[in-house]
Amino acid sequence: MTEVTLDTIANLAKKRGFVFQSSEIYGGIRSAYDYGPLGVELLRNVKEAWWRSMVQERADVVGLDSAIIQAREVWRASGHEEVFTDPMVECRNCNSRFRLDKLDDPDQCPTCGKRGQFTEPHEFNLMFRTHMGPVESDENLVYLRPETAQGIFVNYENVRRTNRLKLPFGIAQIGKSFRNEITPGQFVFRTREFEQMEMEFFCAPEEADEWFTYWLDARMRWYLDLGMTEESLRLRHHDADELSHYSSGTADVEYHFPWGWDELEGIANRTDYDLRQHTEFSGEDLRYYDQEKNERFFPHVIEPAAGATRATFAFLIDGYAEETVNDETRTVLRLHPRLAPYKAAILPLSKKPELIELAERVADGLRKRWMVELDVTQSIGRRYRRQDEIGTPYCVTVDFDSLEDGAATVRDRDTMAQDRVSMDKVASYLEERLV
Ligand code: ATP
Repeated sequence: MTEVTLDTIANLAKKRGFVFQSSEIYGGIRSAYDYGPLGVELLRNVKEAWWRSMVQERADVVGLDSAIIQAREVWRASGHEEVFTDPMVECRNCNSRFRLDKLDDPDQCPTCGKRGQFTEPHEFNLMFRTHMGPVESDENLVYLRPETAQGIFVNYENVRRTNRLKLPFGIAQIGKSFRNEITPGQFVFRTREFEQMEMEFFCAPEEADEWFTYWLDARMRWYLDLGMTEESLRLRHHDADELSHYSSGTADVEYHFPWGWDELEGIANRTDYDLRQHTEFSGEDLRYYDQEKNERFFPHVIEPAAGATRATFAFLIDGYAEETVNDETRTVLRLHPRLAPYKAAILPLSKKPELIELAERVADGLRKRWMVELDVTQSIGRRYRRQDEIGTPYCVTVDFDSLEDGAATVRDRDTMAQDRVSMDKVASYLEERLV
């Protein structure tokens, strides 16, 4: 396995157009990033793979897309207005601010190195505030959502009723969330604007423990099925003193990032906390009516909460490899074909018009099904290296023989093995391999 540093990935991301610093031409805004042509494909593919496994392939989960701005009462009821805080300390010497629980040494300032200069911790609320409408008054105060989950809870009854759902069932959502993190960093690992993929799974209280275990296993499998290295993944159960205010049990899926083990996804047993709170604050009875038992009760909820941008970052790190081929270093991004931004690159061996025309025809044929790239610049060797570096699983090269025999050379990113394939069969050749 190649040792990867944060800089290696950040440089590759920038050089190849995966991720750019937001507002870069103005010096950049800290902790916000823009996804370039390759990054947006990779991120979309990660979200698509999640949606497919969590919604499309399941009979018991439906989707939702709720608003980012919701009534302030939602965040009062959920507890976020009161307790969605992190402990912040400020260095009296250099005025840098830090999240206390993320400091390596709680007494030493990482910026100026001075000891014993921190103020008493102050609980800092992470929600971004703004105003709805033209008047900046307290009554018009709203928050940008810090998680997608609450949009699901407040729509629980709408979704259940309109889709005639019976327990157990889940509601899934992908979307942007915002947290005014005290210490953002490690590239796109912790940003103030990011995307989440969350699912709330509602079940009978007595079945909650079983479903919790089920989802731990299912979520670990999702990363493994998309090719993540097994030794770089682990499940870590939270200790009782680490649990959030709503949770009776939580485990994190952790990935071994360049700086060590850190969270990819949290899977929590939220009990009936949220539905109870929203019932109390809204006055709407959100209990479930079980016809067979003639009983009304609050369902319990298991929540797998993943970060789309964070998972994308982890897949980039995990796929990165450097290897020596014929005394040269080859960088290759071994992304699962389902995640790769481009599924194939079409390369005419030379810039001769008849070859370019042929390559364009092949590319146009494949484009209807997959994201492909036609690349006509530079030597063939350099073009292969570029495609390896951005994770393209197959290169399809047309040469002068192709004009005669109607076949192209298909090169596999990982093995570098080449197959001669009839051009009218290239699509089915790729179809079989792009699982
Ligand atoms: P932490 O304790 O590290 O601040 P958290 O445990 O509060 O994070 P959750 O509320 O469980 O995080 O969020 C679920 C998932 O959303 C996380 O596992 C992560 O993948 C993603 N996520 C949370 N905050 C951020 C962020 N600031 N930037 C990018 N992704 C994030």
